[in-house]
Amino acid sequence: MGNWIYINGEFLPVEEAKVSVFDHGLLYGDGVFEGLRTYNGRIFRLEEHIERLYRSAHFIMLRIPLSKEEMKETILEAVRRNNLKDAYIRVVVTRGVGDLGLDPDKCLRPNLIIIVDKITLYPEKLYEEGLEVVTVPTIRNPITALNPQVKSLNYLNNILAKIEGKNSGCIEAIMLNQEGFVLEATGDNIFIVDRGTLITPPTHIGILEGITRQVVIEIARDLGIPFKEEVFSRYQLFNAQECFLTGTAAEIIPVVKVDRRRIGDGKPGAITKRIRKAFREITMREGEPVYTDEV
Ligand code: PMP
Repeated sequence: MGNWIYINGEFLPVEEAKVSVFDHGLLYGDGVFEGLRTYNGRIFRLEEHIERLYRSAHFIMLRIPLSKEEMKETILEAVRRNNLKDAYIRVVVTRGVGDLGLDPDKCLRPNLIIIVDKITLYPEKLYEEGLEVVTVPTIRNPITALNPQVKSLNYLNNILAKIEGKNSGCIEAIMLNQEGFVLEATGDNIFIVDRGTLITPPTHIGILEGITRQVVIEIARDLGIPFKEEVFSRYQLFNAQECFLTGTAAEIIPVVKVDRRRIGDGKPGAITKRIRKAFREITMREGEPVYTDEV
């Protein structure tokens, strides 16, 4: 863990970095967050993450006390303070301290917290061999309830699905919607390859608009891989030739078994491998430098 936690303008040692038990982030999950990472001293897609944070906050009518430019500088400073080259960054904005009622208007000031930690990856073996996942009974929040495009502090929907996945012996679970269409994993987006075409569900169906997902879409365009955003069912998922998940922490991880059906030949597919390679190259050359002397 990095040593310095940012809270509302101050950098504090971990032991002193505390928020009130009356914070509505704790009491009600009222707040928003972002998860970012650095590759070799550069923050990957910083602006996109900041943009999504402000969009999430706008949706829940939470005013972030910094401008986007100030936020960018603050995140860079937080990484610098912790002196890490490969880090995971968590930005949290809570509604702040209120009373025991729900009313957000009684919370006078949002709390802004930035944690910089070491990145914990899935074991390399899983990237080489692929994941086994299951679809689970808990559906993703419908867009008319809590739209999954909002990256809110309220992750119980995903946590329930994660528990169900783990109960079936899998570390990741695939969530569906009320109609049975495939949406996303508990903390990652999903792609399949169906007869040569790369497919991922469209965001309006009720998924997080993943930043890694967007990078993969760009890679597919650059590599000339046919791509479409389209809803698909478990039938198409089971019969896909390839499947993989995408996320800031997971990056691109192949899926080789779903609900005990083998995907393709049961090994990470050729398109998945090409996309992973291209992704790795992009992460090595892009990003906002944290340490200015190394530009
Ligand atoms: N879906 C959900 C529900 C997530 O929590 C995440 C990770 N934050 C993702 C997808 C992947 O998004 P990203 O690529 O921006 O990390």
